[in-house]
Amino acid sequence: MSKLNTLTLADLRDGLKTKKFSAVEVATAHLDEIERTNPHYNAFITITRDKALEMAKASDAKLAAGNGGLIEGVPVGVKDLFCTKDVLTTAASHILDGFKPQYESTVTTKIWNEGGVMLGKVNLDEFAMGSGNLTSYYGAVKSPWQKDGKALVPGGSSGGSAAAVAADLCPVALGTDTGGSIRQPAAFCGITGIKPTYGRCSRWGIVAFASSLDQAGPIARNVRDCAIMLNVMCGYDPKDSTSANLAVPDFEKALTGDVKGRRIGIPKEYRPDGINPEIAAMWDKGIALLKGAGAEIVDISLPHTGYALATYYIIAPAECSSNLSRYDGVKFGLRVTPENGGLLDMYEATRAAGFGKEVKRRIMIGTYVLSAGYYDAYYKKAQRVRHLIAEDFRKAFEKVDAILTPTAPSAPFGFDYKPSNPVEMYLNDVFTVPTSLAGLPGISIPGGVDKDGLPLGLQLIGKAFDEETVLNIAYGLEQMIGFTAKAQGIVAND
Ligand code: GLN
Repeated sequence: MSKLNTLTLADLRDGLKTKKFSAVEVATAHLDEIERTNPHYNAFITITRDKALEMAKASDAKLAAGNGGLIEGVPVGVKDLFCTKDVLTTAASHILDGFKPQYESTVTTKIWNEGGVMLGKVNLDEFAMGSGNLTSYYGAVKSPWQKDGKALVPGGSSGGSAAAVAADLCPVALGTDTGGSIRQPAAFCGITGIKPTYGRCSRWGIVAFASSLDQAGPIARNVRDCAIMLNVMCGYDPKDSTSANLAVPDFEKALTGDVKGRRIGIPKEYRPDGINPEIAAMWDKGIALLKGAGAEIVDISLPHTGYALATYYIIAPAECSSNLSRYDGVKFGLRVTPENGGLLDMYEATRAAGFGKEVKRRIMIGTYVLSAGYYDAYYKKAQRVRHLIAEDFRKAFEKVDAILTPTAPSAPFGFDYKPSNPVEMYLNDVFTVPTSLAGLPGISIPGGVDKDGLPLGLQLIGKAFDEETVLNIAYGLEQMIGFTAKAQGIVAND
C-alpha cells in the first residue's frame, strides 16, 4: 500500500470507514512527514500535533462504533487566515503576534463537525495579499517543484496550502481566494483548487481582506477531493450577511465526467498577442480534448476583461484599508508604545512596525481611492466597471455552460524573480481576477507541463451557484488529461 500521507482524501475516507487503517495512524504519518520536511518547505506556521492526535483518537472511537462524519479521521491543513479557537492565528502578519481567537470560524467548525483532523495552520502571503507567498512575516514557502535544482515559489496567497498538499504533508488544505489565491497556487503546484461562488462558504471567522471578494475553498489532489470538501464546507450561515441561503447539492454525486453536449466558452480576450506560447498550447490541448469528448466549443467575448486588473487593484485595496483599520494595538496582537507618546503615537508605531511593505502599500492605495476628492474618480468608477465585467459573464452564460481559460499567465517562477515594480506581480492575477469580481465559481486543474516539466493550470469558470457543472466538466477533463507529473520534493543544498 502507498504511504498514508500520499493517499487522496477519498481513499483516506474510504479506508478509514473500512478500517484499513486508523485515524491515529493517518494523522501520525502526516505529522511525521511535516516534522521531517517542514523545516525546508516552511508550509506550516503552527503544527498542532497534540490536538491532531486527540481529534484522531476521537475519530477512531466514532469509526469503531460505525459512526462518523463525511470526512471522519481525514487530516486537514488550515490556512492561517481562519480563526481557530485557542490556536494561534497570524494571517502571516507581525501585527497579529500572539493572537489566539476566542471563537472558531464557521467553515472550520463545519470541518471538525464532519470529522476533519486539524494538523495545523499553514503559511500565506501577509493578510492574503500576494501571488508568490513572498510577503509572509513567517518567511517564504518553498514549493516541492523545482527548476535547475532550485525550489520555486508555490504561488499565493494560499501558498502554504498548495505546497503542503503537493509535498504530501496533508491531503487537503483550506484556502481563501479574493482574486485568485486558491486557483493560482493550485496551478503553480500541479494540484487542484476551487473557489466556489461568493456566498457559498461563510466568511464568518475568516480574517477579512476584501469582504466583497473573499471566499473560502479547498486545495486538494484532485477534483473529487475538492467536491467532497465543498460538501463539508458550504452552507448558509446567518452570521455572514452575504451568505447564500440556498440548499447545497451533493457535489461528489455530480461527478460523472460526461461532457457531451456541454457548451464551453473560449473568451478571445484571454488570448492576447503576447500570450506565453506554452500556456496557449496547453489551453488548446484542453479545448481539443473537450471537443473530442463531444463538448461544443463556442467562441465568446468578455469585452471588459482588459479593465479587470485595474478594477480589482482599486476595490481590493479600498476594502482592505477599511478592514485593516481595526489593527491598532488595542484589541489584537502587537502593541508598540513609544516613550512619552500618546494614543495616536501608539497607533502609528504599532501599525508601522506590525504591517509589512505590501500591506502598507495596499492600505495607502485604498485610503487614497476612498478619500473625498478621489472617491468618484477611482472607487465609484471601479464599482461601475465591476458591474460591466459581471454583465459580460452574465451574457456569455446565456450561450455557454462553462468557460475554459488558463489559470495563470506563466509557469511557476523562482525566488530570483524580481519584478521591476509591484504591478508586474499583480499581472499574475490577470486570468483569475475577473471571476472574483463577478463572484463566480472557478476551479484550477493541472493542464499539462511546460518544456521544463513545470505544471501549468487550466481554469473552468461557471455560472453563479453552478459548482456542479464546473466540477463535473473539470472531472471529465482531469480524466482525459491524465496528469501524472510529480514534484521533485527536496533536493540537497537548496
Ligand atoms: N494575488 C492577488 C492579490 O495579491 C489575490 C490575492 C487573493 O486572492 N487573496 O491581491
